[in-house]
Amino acid sequence: MVICFLFSIQIIGLAQFTEVIKINYNNYLLFVELNKKTIKMKKTFNYYCKIITVFLLLFTFEISVYTQEKSQIKTTVLYDNYLFTEGTRTDWGFSCLIEGTEKTIMFDTGTKSKILFHNIDELKVDLAKVEQIVISHNHGDHTGGLFSILQDIHEISVYLPVSFPDRFIKKVEDANSQAIRVDEPVEICKNVYLTGEMGIQIREQSLILDTKKGLVIITGCSHQGIVNIVKKAKEIVKKDVYLVFGGFHLLRHSENEVNNIIKQFRVLGVQKVGATHCTGDKAIQLIKDAYGEDYVIMGTGKTLFFTSTDTE
Ligand SMILES: [Zn+2]
Ligand SMILES: [Zn+2]
Repeated sequence: MVICFLFSIQIIGLAQFTEVIKINYNNYLLFVELNKKTIKMKKTFNYYCKIITVFLLLFTFEISVYTQEKSQIKTTVLYDNYLFTEGTRTDWGFSCLIEGTEKTIMFDTGTKSKILFHNIDELKVDLAKVEQIVISHNHGDHTGGLFSILQDIHEISVYLPVSFPDRFIKKVEDANSQAIRVDEPVEICKNVYLTGEMGIQIREQSLILDTKKGLVIITGCSHQGIVNIVKKAKEIVKKDVYLVFGGFHLLRHSENEVNNIIKQFRVLGVQKVGATHCTGDKAIQLIKDAYGEDYVIMGTGKTLFFTSTDTE
């Protein structure tokens, strides 16, 4: 009887014990299952996080590239005596495209339209974007391509020194464009100025870009004297000069005269120089030697970037 009683208690105890094991086992399974789900969820969460991060990074990158592009002023030499980009053609003359400003501007139009258009194609320039043309002076190596350009793009503003002959003005108007005679300094679009007509014998105007690093002066032939242009630009915009580039017309200047110009550049605080077109090889070499790393090599296809003053 006692044995039976003890035996049944043992049976009950064992049954309870087995029950406990069973519950624990089930709980363990449940725990493993939940754990698996948690790991799986964690993995999925991490995966989505990674994808979102990659998208956010790409988005931020796109935005920064876009704002950078928007705030950059770009100049491209379309016509010049010197070669910079293989595939473009050189010839006596000058033309430069300015993009990234409020309006896209073509400064001068070279000599031969065939060469100008070859370089425009080679450099993948979209002519349709040009909204303003500035002609520095009435010499064929700056006006040569104008009327071929005006055949392609209509109703744009052409800024000419005030002394230009009436027949030239009429030809521009006949080409369905607006001829604007420039006498005094003028802002032709935001942060882009013209010096106004300068000089006595050969009348000429130059273009000034107001950039974050200072003024960028673009010249045609500088018949009115390159130092006079720099002085005038500083008078108009009252800022330091970062760069002067274009033709300086120093072919007949002696070494002493060129060195004197370099000295005056220093006094006027001209930081960088890019002499090209009609400057003359000897004068270019002297300026290059004097400016060293601050000399900017020019030529057909040369592009330069400047930060706009609007950028924070
Ligand atoms: Zn010239
Ligand atoms: Zn000239």
